Amino acid sequence: MEETIAHRRQRRRRRQPVWPYIAVACLLILLIIGIAAAIVQGALGLELTLKGPETMTLEFGKHFEDPGVEASFGWKNLQSEVQIENGIEPDRLGTFTVTYTIQYRGKTASATRTVQVVDTTPPTIVLMYQENSLTLPGHVYQEEGFVAEDNFDGDITDRVQRVVENGTVLYKVTDSSGNTADASRPIRYGDNTAPDLKLLGDETITIFAGAPFTDPGYTAVDDADGDVGAKVTVSGDFDRSTPGTYTLHYTVTDSSGNTAEATRTIIVKESNQPPIVEPEGKVIYLTFDDGPSKYTPELLAVLAKYNVKATFFVVGTAATGYLDDIVAGGHSIGIHSCSHEYSEIYASDAAFLNDISAMRQKIREYTGVDTTLMRFPGGSSNKVSIKYCEGIMTRLTGKVTELGYQYFDWNVSSGDAGEVKTADEVYQNVINGVQKHKVSIVLQHDIYKYSVDAVERIIQWGLANGYTFLPLDPSSPNAHHSINN
Ligand code: ZN
Repeated sequence: MEETIAHRRQRRRRRQPVWPYIAVACLLILLIIGIAAAIVQGALGLELTLKGPETMTLEFGKHFEDPGVEASFGWKNLQSEVQIENGIEPDRLGTFTVTYTIQYRGKTASATRTVQVVDTTPPTIVLMYQENSLTLPGHVYQEEGFVAEDNFDGDITDRVQRVVENGTVLYKVTDSSGNTADASRPIRYGDNTAPDLKLLGDETITIFAGAPFTDPGYTAVDDADGDVGAKVTVSGDFDRSTPGTYTLHYTVTDSSGNTAEATRTIIVKESNQPPIVEPEGKVIYLTFDDGPSKYTPELLAVLAKYNVKATFFVVGTAATGYLDDIVAGGHSIGIHSCSHEYSEIYASDAAFLNDISAMRQKIREYTGVDTTLMRFPGGSSNKVSIKYCEGIMTRLTGKVTELGYQYFDWNVSSGDAGEVKTADEVYQNVINGVQKHKVSIVLQHDIYKYSVDAVERIIQWGLANGYTFLPLDPSSPNAHHSINN
């Protein structure tokens, strides 16, 4: 029994607490786990990997959407610690690098991505259009304007190449990256502009009834057709012998149907001229210019022999001593010119009017006759005056009429002031000419002997053929020429 108790005591002594051992064990395990984890994490290391491709292409001007990286140390996510260095230059094309770096616990990891910035966007061409802009048929197209812009190069309008082909304008431009743009426009052909119709001379012209009227004319130029003066039509009831106010209408239409119009007012005043009296029968008015001369007495004798009265348009530089004889012979005397110098008398309207006024005065002094009969040197149709004063004949014919003169031209020329140098030829020209008219005004010059020598035969032929020879008077037919200046 005692032994048993002793054993029990012994057993009780051996039964000491075990928890301290457990705690220590647990601590050890934790330590081991911790060390193991640290070893594992250290073994896994600092990780940095690219998301997305290593090399990327970026269109110039577009924002770079970075796919980013994954960063970790073991199982620790370090993405927010990554530093990004973006080497992309915003205004250049080329290859750039984006660098990602992370530093953790004294370790560094990095990665790079290559970004190629390219320009694949073509330029744009913008065409300008002018309102109502038409190209005249057959004319070169006038550019209405264009602008070329590129996303990288900017304004490249000056690089645009332009070709006109089959009525179309083709535009082409290439940017510095080789991207091309095209544009085209059809050329709109047409003409919507009427010709430029301009009246020459005054818009309102006043003439005396019965006085000659020569339209000062017009010019008509069309932008497409050029000179269309020949297409101008003139209309309007105009009677130069009846006083009143008349309107002349000028119209011209170009080949595209555009019409221009103009009007001119003609006021016909009551005439200050005696009415023209047509003589009866076949009549010849012999007229002699540029004299008198030393041949004039001989001529006067022939005229007297046949009792034929003629007309002398005299000049101030001639043998004025015979002026009186002309009047004494019963002939008509008229003003030709005082100086008969074309360059002087046709220099201006005033110069001419002064010249004939001086001659009128001279005739009055020598003969006592105040004549209003006159003949323009060279005739009213002369073109030589153009050299000295444009349009002067148009004005002078009106002015002398207004001043009460009666100017006479001729409808039969003897040719004695030209090629003709013999009395035979003068005779032939005159008798050939007078046979074409019921009333003839014959031009001769009594300063040429051969012309004077032809007169007797002309008179003989005329009388034998039923003609009457008359001197001109203010009521005589005037054989006005058409005016050329
Ligand atoms: Zn003359």
